[in-house]
Amino acid sequence: MNSVTVRVPAKVNLQLAVGPLRDDGYHDLVNVFHAVSIFDEVTATAKTGMSVRVEGESADQVPEGHENLAIKAALALAGHAGRSYGVNLLIRKAIPVAGGMAGGSADAAATLVACNELWGLGLPLEDLMEIAADLGSDVPFALLGGTAVGTGRGERLTPLDVAGTFHWVFALADGGLSTATVYAECDRIRQATGERVAWPQAAEPLLAALREGDAETLGTELRNDLQPAAVMLRGSLARTLDAGREHGALGSLVSGSGPTCAFLARSESHAGELAASLKDAGVARDVITAHGPVPGPIIV
Ligand code: ATP
Repeated sequence: MNSVTVRVPAKVNLQLAVGPLRDDGYHDLVNVFHAVSIFDEVTATAKTGMSVRVEGESADQVPEGHENLAIKAALALAGHAGRSYGVNLLIRKAIPVAGGMAGGSADAAATLVACNELWGLGLPLEDLMEIAADLGSDVPFALLGGTAVGTGRGERLTPLDVAGTFHWVFALADGGLSTATVYAECDRIRQATGERVAWPQAAEPLLAALREGDAETLGTELRNDLQPAAVMLRGSLARTLDAGREHGALGSLVSGSGPTCAFLARSESHAGELAASLKDAGVARDVITAHGPVPGPIIV
């Protein structure tokens, strides 16, 4: 086999609870991850050495050297196998870059699956999950897909059973937001307001709404503790979120560290209408519809 292509979805956080700042500079998190039908594709082709090329959505903002998370994933997998394998990676991006939808993590997960196949390693998912956890806190979920609760730094995952399909609209913004900057702003706001930060916990009504396929309740339970920080750093997001509510979204929130905003619709047709209204309102660079949950990386 000379070449393997893997399709991998983006994620939105339905709940992102951020605990107090720890001494090591990280936060304990509770993350309800949900994989949605916006896909990057990674093609791994056998060659000597390691290289990566990026095409598509905001490709010019993605590094093509060894800082690319996909290359880091290929190197980590080769290291785990104890061999100096080579690969060329072609990433076709549709997931917004630095958009709070874990595009880099998705590409890393897709690369682990593609290279595991290309190099004939046959490693089980548990081994790939261990390598994924070392690459970044969103990479293990990107390998799993579906809907799951993540704790710790996001890497301890419990898959959730979800009834049916939820329909989403995503408003893409111009330019990204750095995840580290958004966490730092969150800490700054909390310090300035003297807010007592509770230990993060998954919200039971949100989990019940997912189990029951209850979009109406899910819409009211969407919660992102990073949202005030993302809105503080990018004031225009307040208008984008308001526009979603005005046009009948069941709920809205900033996705992860932003600046992408997610809106929950009643149905596929409602998602189409809501997307058209948001486009007309001119509150986003682009507006796309998607559904979730969807499975994790798939060899195509
Ligand atoms: P998260 O939601 O996990 O915080 P994000 O979706 O906000 O992440 P990414 O799209 O993963 O952000 O990109 C974050 C940064 O990582 C970008 O600024 C980009 O330069 C860098 N990067 C490295 N590798 C990749 C990759 N394969 N795809 C996208 N960005 C990458």
